[in-house]
Amino acid sequence: MKNRQWLIADRPIGRGLLKTDFKSVISDVPKLSKGQVLVSVEYLGFDPALKGWMENIADYVAPTNIGDIMPGSGIGTVIDTKDNKFSVGDKVMGLLKWQDLSVMKASDLQLIDDDDLFTANLGILGTPGMTAFFGFTRIGKPRAGDTVLVSGAAGATGSLVGQLAKLSGCRTIGIAGGPKKCQWLVDEIGYDEVIDYKNETVRHRLKDICPASVDVFFDNVGGSILNDALAQIATNARVVLCGGISRYETGQQPTGPGNYFNLIFRRASMEGFIVLDYMSEYPLARKRMKQWIRSGTIKYKEDVQEGFDNIPTTLMRLFTGQNFGKQILKMDTPQI
Ligand code: NAP
Repeated sequence: MKNRQWLIADRPIGRGLLKTDFKSVISDVPKLSKGQVLVSVEYLGFDPALKGWMENIADYVAPTNIGDIMPGSGIGTVIDTKDNKFSVGDKVMGLLKWQDLSVMKASDLQLIDDDDLFTANLGILGTPGMTAFFGFTRIGKPRAGDTVLVSGAAGATGSLVGQLAKLSGCRTIGIAGGPKKCQWLVDEIGYDEVIDYKNETVRHRLKDICPASVDVFFDNVGGSILNDALAQIATNARVVLCGGISRYETGQQPTGPGNYFNLIFRRASMEGFIVLDYMSEYPLARKRMKQWIRSGTIKYKEDVQEGFDNIPTTLMRLFTGQNFGKQILKMDTPQI
């Protein structure tokens, strides 16, 4: 059996991703050993962190090598198995990587429902959903009446944080790029206020909307937006460091935000987290999320690209804001 794969060809350190960072190959699928499962990959999910994994800057995952199959989460169907935990036809989720067929250790796969929320396992029921849920509730510690500010608000993670904040009785302010995303945040997602960072001055708008009154800042972006938000935190604010996508292409650690002293003046905290630390609690959070989705309490959006050849450019969409919702890709039938 032949398998199309994308390999890591270069490390995109200090720059944006290029098509030449990836190389496509066709290889043979190895025979399954005991405890292994063969999965036909149907959808891939894309996270900004994948660029960091290629650069080996993230020490919470195994390092990558040039020539490795590009990592990435996926969902698919079991087509062969040497482990009694899975049967042919089962739908599964795991780090399936950028390829048609994935040989996986059964212990690294998770059984998922074959239902209308199948692709949601990559988004609202997957990493971004869990990131929003645990980052916001555990680090943000929301209280009814709080003002919650979210950067990257129209993304997979940020759009859920805004909705969780509303459910917690908070006032919500979202920062996103462009009028289309900002309109969607107000009309569909229910943010009380939005700031279009591509067309407005964040610093001025924050001063107008929430002067010294941000109780929770959930930051996906870092850089100048983090600094502008720090200027408007309330007493005892919680600044949740989820991500810093504004610097993922610079290759440098940012200099400390100039306004960090406000953490002292406002007796505030700033805390990072890695969602994987909450993995044992995912099943319960997923169950709750499913109930909210089914009851229409929580909404989500997916941006579905298609085809093996388009996998690298689909990852690039995250860094230009081309994705509108959780970025996923539907695999096509291999012509080999
Ligand atoms: P996403 O928000 O769906 O997509 C990324 C978005 O980032 C883009 O749509 C774009 O939105 C925005 N963006 C890109 N470049 C930017 C820039 N220079 N300045 C400001 N915004 C920019 O992606 P996601 O998967 O939900 O991830 C969101 C954040 O969570 C990322 O920082 C990611 O690394 C982080 N994360 C953290 C954990 C954790 O455990 N801590 C886990 C998963 C993800 P606009 O069009 O609005 O610019």
